[in-house]
Amino acid sequence: MSSQKQMLQDIEREVDSTRYMIGRSALSQQVMDALLAVPRDAFVPLSERRCAYYNGPLPIGCGQTISQPYIVALMTDLLYADSNDVILEVGTGSGYQAAVLSQVVRQVYSIEIIETLSQRASETLSRLGYENVDCRCGDGYLGWPEHAPYDGILVTAACPEIPPPLISQLKSGARMVMPVGPSFGYQELVLVEKHDTGEVSERKILDVSFVPLTGNHERGSC
Ligand code: SAM
Repeated sequence: MSSQKQMLQDIEREVDSTRYMIGRSALSQQVMDALLAVPRDAFVPLSERRCAYYNGPLPIGCGQTISQPYIVALMTDLLYADSNDVILEVGTGSGYQAAVLSQVVRQVYSIEIIETLSQRASETLSRLGYENVDCRCGDGYLGWPEHAPYDGILVTAACPEIPPPLISQLKSGARMVMPVGPSFGYQELVLVEKHDTGEVSERKILDVSFVPLTGNHERGSC
């Protein structure tokens, strides 16, 4: 069995063992197909390539990580995205989550605060032909207002609060998934829904451990 198929089996096992917390015993076939289609080894540094299909986070340089495949799959599934959707990702990192999202939606906008990572991810994504992903360097706390409102927002760095600019850039009826809690240690993965009435509800999904959302949230670019 290929290591990529093994990674999918590991994700399925972890979904099953967390089913009572995440409210599902399997993820959508579309999301699993996206995980199978994207070569994770192309998004990790050479030194990590032999572990690329390990179901865990890996270092990508600049003190940052590529997220655990199970978490990438779960966050994508929680969005309930469809093929016409335009999604904002905050925290491009390696570009892997953006590539997975690009398989299930029409357009992905992804913002990263570290210029080196933003440039590298942008190069990787265009070299691999992911034409429906646009990247930029900036403070994602502020979102990317030029392309708002979004059908979904996915934040891959932890913040003690849900950034108000992201709520206002979310369409009515749309969802946002993000880790909410302290900068270090554990946070809660939260599913945010903006209802047609404009009301916002939050549901805690499970404990996670993400790197912090940095920046002074005043600057729009780096
Ligand atoms: N989604 C990434 C991937 O697939 O590789 C993994 C993201 S990593 C866990 C979190 C990323 O968020 C880091 O690259 C970090 O630099 C970035 N980040 C932190 N604060 C940010 C901010 N205010 N705006 C944008 N990106 C930020």
